[in-house]
Amino acid sequence: MSMADITIIGSGAAATTTLIELFGKLADGPPLKKKLNIIIVEKYAEFWKGIPYGARSSVNSLTITAISDFISPGKERDLFFDWLKVNLNDWTSDYRLKGGMAANTWLQNNLPLIEENKWNLVYLPRFVFGIYLQQKLLAYLQTLEEKQLANVLLIQAEAIDVKVEDAQYKVTLEYPDKTLSSITTTKLVIATGSAPVKNNMEETAANDAYVYINDLYAPSLDDNLKTLQNTLANVSDKEDRNLLIIGSNASCIELLYLLNHRPDLLSSIHKIVTISQTGLMPGHISEKTLDSYPCPNLDRLKHTGNYSIHTLIEATKKDIQPAIQGHIIIPYVDRAISLTVELMQLLDEESKKIFFGIYGPQLTRLIRRSGPAYKRAADNLIGVQKLELLKGKFLGIEPANNGGILNYIAPDSLEQQHRFLFKIIINCSGSDDLQNSSSRLIYNLIKRKICTVNLSGKGFVVNEKFEAAPHLYIMGPLLGGNMNKRIHFWHLENVARLLYLSPYLAEHLLVQ
Ligand SMILES: Cc1cc2nc3c(=O)[nH]c(=O)nc-3n(C[C@H](O)[C@H](O)[C@H](O)COP(=O)(O)OP(=O)(O)OC[C@H]3O[C@@H](n4cnc5c(N)ncnc54)[C@H](O)[C@@H]3O)c2cc1C
Repeated sequence: MSMADITIIGSGAAATTTLIELFGKLADGPPLKKKLNIIIVEKYAEFWKGIPYGARSSVNSLTITAISDFISPGKERDLFFDWLKVNLNDWTSDYRLKGGMAANTWLQNNLPLIEENKWNLVYLPRFVFGIYLQQKLLAYLQTLEEKQLANVLLIQAEAIDVKVEDAQYKVTLEYPDKTLSSITTTKLVIATGSAPVKNNMEETAANDAYVYINDLYAPSLDDNLKTLQNTLANVSDKEDRNLLIIGSNASCIELLYLLNHRPDLLSSIHKIVTISQTGLMPGHISEKTLDSYPCPNLDRLKHTGNYSIHTLIEATKKDIQPAIQGHIIIPYVDRAISLTVELMQLLDEESKKIFFGIYGPQLTRLIRRSGPAYKRAADNLIGVQKLELLKGKFLGIEPANNGGILNYIAPDSLEQQHRFLFKIIINCSGSDDLQNSSSRLIYNLIKRKICTVNLSGKGFVVNEKFEAAPHLYIMGPLLGGNMNKRIHFWHLENVARLLYLSPYLAEHLLVQ
């Protein structure tokens, strides 16, 4: 059994940005009383990059926002832009080599924009940020080892349980070969990313009529594209080679973008059908600027001062409508949201909690966005009649002879069966509430009453030191829905926010 001063579970951007800060403070700050023992536990074989920026995504996966919004303006963003330029030859040749047709098109369209520093138009292949994070972390790690300031142990295992023993945390680990062991740590950081995706097919018995992929990024996007190709190649009747995508979250439009650049895969698919409650893809970000961004409903509330959290959000929803119809006009949305936050600040604490826990996530869903290249890909697939966007509520899949039959509730409230048979079904419906999480770690943290789920259902209650329990810290998306002096975000699936929070968490971890 290993003993640690600090253990971090998860090794994605949340852990890496925190460690970069922590290592920086260790290397440059006053010496600590003793050398620190740090353990990082990661269930996947790759460290420092996490799901979006490493091998579980595709090299062709792009950032959701333009790179100018990916990192907030300031020193860190300048450093990243400098790094992108200094290392341009390296990452572009790597990308050209691995990315096929999508990479060639991307490089052709984006290299001139990078040359001219038009960062507001560049949606970067995400793996590039993964390389940047990894290089930065490894450089610090080397300094720490040279100066003998810390021992850093990397363990590939899934943390499945946590117990409190003698004011320490005992973490049970399950290794890839399913053997178990445990580590004991004084400080524990849970940085495991968003809660696992909702499983829509739990009730469905295993069958060989169709293949179901619950998580597009597990084991990896590329592996799942291979499964898709192999599965469809074995279907003799062309008309039965159909793909069903459940949900239309960001991973759905990412998948459509990747398929649109893979003629070999597209030719093996007869039809792609997406089913979602809205029947829409995330909105397209518009570069348009307007003379004014009127918010008459919010302005009226500001003027009268007579509103509750509920009427405030009603006004916000009305005012953002013109900014999200067909495309999302960012400055317009920004004005409505900042006015909402300004008015929300004047309400009592309970209303603020309701805002961060319930209404904030609703607003985020309304302004779901994607870059122009993703949007163009989806439009193209609709244009060539490869893609059908179905509006309805998914009920289940009925196994048939050579595929699954989709049962759903149509907008007219009638239960229906779709006309196609689906040979492959991919879940893109987003993460589950923590109370229903398939993560054994999250389940046990709740069951043992170590952590409490906040109003959002997607995050844990923490104090301003990031603590869900004494010396048990949360970092990353599981912080969403909190409101205190330091952490006041309704969602944290966002690198800029991780970069903002990581120095503060590093500070708390270093207090001895
Ligand atoms: C596909 C995708 C695309 C995204 N695109 C963007 C974008 O363009 N811009 C943006 O700002 N944000 C984006 N995000 C949001 C993203 O959540 C954050 O940017 C950031 O990556 C979160 O980092 P993380 O370390 O919290 O999560 P993750 O990257 O998910 O890392 C968590 C790590 O914890 C490990 N883990 C989980 N449970 C355990 C366990 N029990 N034991 C051991 N290890 C465990 C996982 O294997 C994983 O490596 C995207 C997210 C996803 C999933």
